[in-house]
Amino acid sequence: MRKIAILGSTGSIGTQTLSVVREQGDIGVAALAAGSNTVLLERQIREFSPELVCVWEEAAAARLRESIADLSVRVVSGMEGLLEVAVYPKSELLVTAIVGMLGIRPTIAAIQAGKKIALANKETLVTAGHLIMPLARERGVPILPVDSEHSAIFQSLQGAVYDGGRNRIEKILLTASGGPFRGKKREELADIQVEDALRHPNWSMGKKITIDSSTLVNKGLEVMEAKWLFGVEPERIQVVVHPQSVIHSAVEYEDGAVIAQLGTPDMRLPIQYALYYPERRPLSGERLDLFALGQLTFERPDLDTFRGLPLAYEAMRRGGNIPTAFNAANERAVALFLERKIAYPQITEIIAACMEEASYQEAPDLDAILETEASAYEYIARRWGEV
Ligand code: NDP
Ligand code: MG
Repeated sequence: MRKIAILGSTGSIGTQTLSVVREQGDIGVAALAAGSNTVLLERQIREFSPELVCVWEEAAAARLRESIADLSVRVVSGMEGLLEVAVYPKSELLVTAIVGMLGIRPTIAAIQAGKKIALANKETLVTAGHLIMPLARERGVPILPVDSEHSAIFQSLQGAVYDGGRNRIEKILLTASGGPFRGKKREELADIQVEDALRHPNWSMGKKITIDSSTLVNKGLEVMEAKWLFGVEPERIQVVVHPQSVIHSAVEYEDGAVIAQLGTPDMRLPIQYALYYPERRPLSGERLDLFALGQLTFERPDLDTFRGLPLAYEAMRRGGNIPTAFNAANERAVALFLERKIAYPQITEIIAACMEEASYQEAPDLDAILETEASAYEYIARRWGEV
């Protein structure tokens, strides 16, 4: 049986990955990693029988070891543990479903060990795409997108390669729901509360990406993710607000043909496509009913209100370690907003300030990326107060 490993098995993508595994029944789980939710992790261990699991804090790992003493599962912790899960010999594919730059090192280690990557953890590509993509090519390891838009683009690109050539992409149409604050003006964002921002119209996801979707920072991260995954210049990636989230994204070819992937909003489809690519398997769930939908609508994004998107394009244009400054600032600012320590509009103010403050490096290696992250954190602590 083919086996996989999952980083972030207790989260939104992690649990949906396991539900695909449960429904299909012919993929095994070799290793799992979670943050702190050991109650759910223990249930997953008992259902899916991995041989290795990682819990971030050693104290929590020790408690888990006791509660599963009846099983022969090895429990590890910390970054060393995450790395072990990432390269676990019995797994052939790693699902990266943790949040943030924490995923960079395990993703690199897994590629070096020849694992296929089903990539949800977009922050890793945004900050280290220039290291990860060439490494994956060198090792012949596919990076299979899990993000719904990128899976849609990937699906729309099937058939683009033929004997002796490759059909070129004229443009990528990256769709966006617009989030819960679509239609609001900049002044109206001032007193948005955590609860308002956590209410996404179409998708139920982890907290960080839900906030990112409300600010359109998520779309900015996705433009950068698309640039790395598909080797397309940023000018050729157009964000299209499409509130129904039915067209998950599209590719325009040089002859003007636009090929898109449509479906109901259900992350299990892109997850399953990444796990079984290039095979399509049956999947339970609602089907698209075009008659019930009636119409699909499209708008340009409001760049004046949602500053995160133009800032992302600026970060891409400047390149080097600036996307890292953008991303690290956002990770910290979103955490502060969720802790109610800053106001909603400060998220993008902090991103802009950290991009200004960062000392530019053209081709940062892993250490330089992590240093840029640390400097952004220090700067935020100095200017906006310690957390
Ligand atoms: P969640 O917050 O729901 O889940 C995060 C997971 O990471 C949890 O399992 C959490 O464990 C785990 N985790 C947190 N800290 C650590 C740590 N230190 N060590 C190991 N594991 C840790 O996030 P999502 O599933 O929403 O998102 C995951 C990634 O996928 C993000 O990069 C996001 O942008 C991307 N993505 C998500 C989509 C979605 O629909 N959710 C869609 C497209 C992309 P615990 O619960 O135990 O703390
Ligand atoms: Mg997405």
